[in-house]
Amino acid sequence: MVYQVVRLGHPALRQKAAPVNLSAVKEKKFQKLIDDMIATMRDYQGVGIAAPQIGLSAAIFCVEVKANRRYPDMPGIPVYTVINPKLTLTDASEVRMMEGCLSLPDLRGETPRARAVRLEGFDRFGQPLDFNAKGFHARILQHEYDHLQGRVYLDRVKNRKSICYTDHL
Ligand SMILES: [Zn+2]
Repeated sequence: MVYQVVRLGHPALRQKAAPVNLSAVKEKKFQKLIDDMIATMRDYQGVGIAAPQIGLSAAIFCVEVKANRRYPDMPGIPVYTVINPKLTLTDASEVRMMEGCLSLPDLRGETPRARAVRLEGFDRFGQPLDFNAKGFHARILQHEYDHLQGRVYLDRVKNRKSICYTDHL
């Protein structure tokens, strides 16, 4: 099932997402939710999706970069899911790149992000995750983690004149 991605203005995008009770991962409906989040991300050609983007206050996001039309030049990242993440900046030096979001369709803005991060959390089966990421992968993680804090990339854009529609890129 493909969800409808909610747009900026929906209250779920501005709330801190509730932590997931890890005993829920054993339930069929939880695994279906993850499958459906991934199906939605793929349908919308996203490189990530966070539960608040389907209107659900839960600390879950999915990531995948695969022959992506929206970001054609980026290296592939096999699909994975993160539950209850903790994100730490391991190299806070600023990288700026035009960034977009499925909840702000067709818009892009130059968004500063840290160069490298460490992510700790749990996968869709409740197994612990702990890894480092840099570059575009680190950017996706910061973007999705922000969604779980009620933030969107526009909140981080410093050069507001960079904000534009994709057909003007
Ligand atoms: Zn987003």
